[in-house]
Amino acid sequence: MAVWNLGSINEDIVYSVPHIPAAGETLAATDKRHYLGGKGTNMSVALARAGAQVKHIGAVGEDGGWILLKLAEYGVDTRFIGKVAHGTGHAIITVDSQGENAITLWPGANAEVPLDMVQLALSEARTGDWFVTQNETNLQEESARIARDLGLRVAYAAAPFEAAAARAMLPMTDLLVLNAVEAEQLRSATGQGPAELPVEHVIVTLGSKGCDWVTAQDTHHFDAIPVTPVDTTGAGDTFTGYVLAGLDRGMPMAQAIGLATRAAALMVTRHGTSDVIPDLAEVQAFRP
Ligand code: ATP
Repeated sequence: MAVWNLGSINEDIVYSVPHIPAAGETLAATDKRHYLGGKGTNMSVALARAGAQVKHIGAVGEDGGWILLKLAEYGVDTRFIGKVAHGTGHAIITVDSQGENAITLWPGANAEVPLDMVQLALSEARTGDWFVTQNETNLQEESARIARDLGLRVAYAAAPFEAAAARAMLPMTDLLVLNAVEAEQLRSATGQGPAELPVEHVIVTLGSKGCDWVTAQDTHHFDAIPVTPVDTTGAGDTFTGYVLAGLDRGMPMAQAIGLATRAAALMVTRHGTSDVIPDLAEVQAFRP
């Protein structure tokens, strides 16, 4: 089966600075690095590294050719990533010597994914495939509806949290993944805890405390694997990508969560995002 991911694609531009500039201050950076980022991209790379057949639906600007090449090199099908007039989405990340950061996000092409690209992509989907999306592009709701009508299963990571997007997506969602903060935001927005939501499976991730898998009937807790974290960026996206890859290859939920817990633990021991997401062989060989 395949996993169709409508997701953001960002260039992360990281500037190292002695301190985060104050309002009105001009400061020279001491280093500048580029990375492939965006929740959507991270999830597609995690899915591909976990061995899933992943088709990314999204958009970049004319400046995004290098991203398509890199994603293709990582095993992601990039045929449904459109090139649009707005530039590629990017994040300007300023990091000081203490590791504190300030981020300015420009959605760019991520807000301009063409509907005909979604329709073209999903015309190749098959009943039983997974469709996954997050809150960093346009068209989530429309795309999820098309996917549902075609008999796909829908996974949704409600991040970054937006109440209106979450309300629209929940009735179409089979698997919802939230971190603890998003779960609280959703409770405030809907008045419902995870077990009361109209979603068959909810996973609430709890960082170093692991995660809860919640259904209307019961809640199963999974401990995290104890490791010494050096960088938790992308842990959640790696986790969700691996859960879906496991489900896509027919694993029961508990086994897919077990695999994802190992992958995310290994991920937090590494610096970086998409480029360092572990592959299945590394996850299986991981002895913490
Ligand atoms: P991020 O935004 O940093 O990508 P998130 O907030 O979406 O992450 P978390 O709940 O922090 O998601 O982490 C997702 C999963 O990653 C957890 O359920 C856990 O399995 C694993 N994980 C995160 N932090 C740690 C840690 N310090 N040690 C071991 N596993 C971790």
